[in-house]
Amino acid sequence: MKDLSSSFDILEKKFPGYEDRLEQREMAGEIMGSFLDGKNLLIEAGTGVGKSFAYLIPAILSREKTIISTSSLALQDQLVKKDLVFLRKALPRKFSFGILKGKNNYVCLKREREYAGSGKFYLRFRKWLSETETGERSDISFTPKFWAEVCGDSQDCGGRTCLFYGRCFYYRHYRKLYATDILVVNHHLLAYDLLSDFSLLPFHKQLIIDEAPHIEDVISTVLGSTLNYSSTAWLLYRLRGLKVVVDHLFPQVESFFKKSDAPPWPVSPVPDPVIEKLKKLRKDLALNKTASALGKRKKSTVDEELRDRIETTIGYIESFAADMDDFIGQGNKDKVYYAEGGNGGMELKSSLVESGNAFENLMRAYGNVIMTSATLTSGKNFAFLKKRLNIEDFGEKIIGSPFDYKEQSLLYIDKDLPKPDNENNGPFQKESLKVIEKLIGASRGRALVLFTSYRHLNFVAENVETQYPFKSQGDMPPAKLIKWFKDTPDSVLFATATFWQGIDIKGDDLSLVIIVRLPFSSPGDPVYQERCDRLKGRWFYDLALPHATLSLRQGFGRLIRGRDEYGVVAILDTRLVKNSYGRYIVSSLPPADITHDIRDVEAFFDSHQ
Ligand code: SF4
Repeated sequence: MKDLSSSFDILEKKFPGYEDRLEQREMAGEIMGSFLDGKNLLIEAGTGVGKSFAYLIPAILSREKTIISTSSLALQDQLVKKDLVFLRKALPRKFSFGILKGKNNYVCLKREREYAGSGKFYLRFRKWLSETETGERSDISFTPKFWAEVCGDSQDCGGRTCLFYGRCFYYRHYRKLYATDILVVNHHLLAYDLLSDFSLLPFHKQLIIDEAPHIEDVISTVLGSTLNYSSTAWLLYRLRGLKVVVDHLFPQVESFFKKSDAPPWPVSPVPDPVIEKLKKLRKDLALNKTASALGKRKKSTVDEELRDRIETTIGYIESFAADMDDFIGQGNKDKVYYAEGGNGGMELKSSLVESGNAFENLMRAYGNVIMTSATLTSGKNFAFLKKRLNIEDFGEKIIGSPFDYKEQSLLYIDKDLPKPDNENNGPFQKESLKVIEKLIGASRGRALVLFTSYRHLNFVAENVETQYPFKSQGDMPPAKLIKWFKDTPDSVLFATATFWQGIDIKGDDLSLVIIVRLPFSSPGDPVYQERCDRLKGRWFYDLALPHATLSLRQGFGRLIRGRDEYGVVAILDTRLVKNSYGRYIVSSLPPADITHDIRDVEAFFDSHQ
């Protein structure tokens, strides 16, 4: 512990702009204690604690190999390009670190050879390939359209048996990471490692999961499957490359996926007419016959490269056929199946309903597990997360934010609007529009307005009267929209509740977050719906309420990102004051003063100009 304290003293001296925070030291002490005692820990650390140094320093001092898993690319970048670089220079303890991304971030030499493209871009790509040391997508100055055809794919990778294994970019990088002390990955890779019997990540004793609430849904997705046009067309391309006659099948595949009338929202279960067409497609693709013909060809061929190609193609066919059968039967009770339309055509998807058992298996692979986030608790305890992920025998600790929410923020809760039981009901839409206009006027723009329904969002965007520039989710891609919001003074952004998770806006650009309706459900999310159905009478208190509370806390966390920031969170859902569970939600939010009077909001902004 002495080392820990002196490490933070070093930070204070050497890190420009670093503020010593008791909360950060406390968090680091808890994590160090857990490492020393060989115990697992759930630790919530409010916004502004400086979580990354608080777990990186104990991990470095522990001298044990540690994996750090995050959900967002932004946090991975911050860890690898900033925090760890700084700590390596500043701390006396020497350590190594690295990042491992998914295989699809690296060129696969085998698939590239099979692809054998042509044209100007392909020649440029080949030139880059002959020079690159890493084979990483982020190292190319342009994004080749054919990247999906030439990047690594776990389903199409023979690993050690691949003829290119020795030169393979992914595995070369992977081999170097065996000796790495701190390895940064993302939740998807962690879940794929579980799926592939822990053959993807080199062994590390300790695991730190940051942004931990996301892990449940990542496991649910990774342990499910997807059938779409590109995965099916890719199979046909591979077969064509092996001189199997498949050209007549392309129109059928295109018609199944691209000419379907699936709506752009998920429909579960996959409707019968779609299943009937899928059965026909399965028959026409003649997968079993093709696999067995290829098996015979493999036996008679002496060309090693061709044998390897045939072998991985057979593997691909088998797993593809198993996925098709899985969708046709929709019989795995652990999964939920759904069809969803979109720009690239219809996709068939399945997801694991409950991730708890899989998460338990993941935990068993590590000596120590630390789970952290700014929002892990609901109702000031960890019961929700523990239940969702079958977590037992973890220590628990909540560390509050160093921000002064009473001084820096105000919580406005409307108590006069109609109940938004159905957000699309006319009176609520019309009345809430007036409140939104007044609030935006009080904050002079700089507002994020979050809806749980697109219909309500569109209604407000079409009818709002305001002098401030505004845009809606869908007007441009999300990253561009956030950039527009940051770059446009006094702007307003209308978005859905799911959008707020990816937003990190520091400073005065964001001073008001309006939450139009409690985020009680992810609209049309079949996995969430199925989880609720399975909980029967307990769905509200065991899932909907704690889930909504966590989402609200995340929304609140978007507002105040520094000690000198201020702002208002406005919730227009009167159930917060009229229903008994409202108290549970409000008590979970940061301790801001509460008002029901818009004049207080105006006064708050006037006093902070
Ligand atoms: S081992 Fe072979 S198939 Fe796997 S990613 Fe590397 S080059 Fe591709």
